[in-house]
Amino acid sequence: AAELRDVHIGFRSGRHVTPVVRGVTLRLLPGRVLALVGESGSGKSLTSLALIGLLPPGAEITSGSVVLGGDDTAGFTARQWREARGSRVAMVFQDPMAALNPGFAVGRQIAEPFRRRLGASRRDARERAVALMREVGIADAETRYGDHPHEFSGGMRQRAVIAMALALGPSVLLADEPTTALDVTVQAQILRLLARRQQEAGLATLLVSHDLGVVARMAHEVAVMYAGRIVEQGPLDAVYTRPAHPYTLGLLRAMP
Ligand code: ATP
Ligand code: MG
Repeated sequence: AAELRDVHIGFRSGRHVTPVVRGVTLRLLPGRVLALVGESGSGKSLTSLALIGLLPPGAEITSGSVVLGGDDTAGFTARQWREARGSRVAMVFQDPMAALNPGFAVGRQIAEPFRRRLGASRRDARERAVALMREVGIADAETRYGDHPHEFSGGMRQRAVIAMALALGPSVLLADEPTTALDVTVQAQILRLLARRQQEAGLATLLVSHDLGVVARMAHEVAVMYAGRIVEQGPLDAVYTRPAHPYTLGLLRAMP
């Protein structure tokens, strides 16, 4: 469903490019969760942002290719990327406020893609948004439709972001530390929700996480990143029981 082929990413200043991600190859498959783990600064977020065409200013793909649903995205225009986001690939970040507009009702933000992208009527879009809010476990969805992000708890905000991400039925979901900012009980609820939706919709999922416990519960495959490279990749069991790289071994030893 989505693939990175020997992707290199660097930061440009003038004519000089500092390499940061150095030849990453990843393949996301329908119904499967690939976890990307590795130390801070190893390039996990840049790798996932490359898959959604949202690299930060200054960062660029210097070689390799990003393939979405069989299409090489190298020639994608800004418009094609906008179209791909939501309908093919969607993203949930650590901070739900990064995806929500503080000035608009949460329900309206969830309804928006139905109106804008599918041309649904205001009423129809609202109904679909409310149904989606219920599905992700937002209680009293009908009455909460008009509430602004600041009136939601952190966990409810993240549920709303998941609803937004899933609204247009993408085939690829990128989740970058989706539960890190939440308390443990809420974490478990959000992970269950993600896992259920992931399976029902046959989503190809990339889960970036520091938490090897979370990875153990969610992932089918694990890729370990170290200094911009993938140093280990394989089925969850194999990586956890027979790590090949010393960095992975260290990570697992540090697990509580
Ligand atoms: P974390 O676990 O802390 O989220 P990460 O693995 O997601 O880390 P990235 O955010 O992908 O790491 O960053 C990879 C590298 O790119 C880091 O070493 C960082 O220093 C560098 N980097 C990130 N943003 C910039 C920038 N705007 N300019 C220059 N270098 C940057
Ligand atoms: Mg990161």
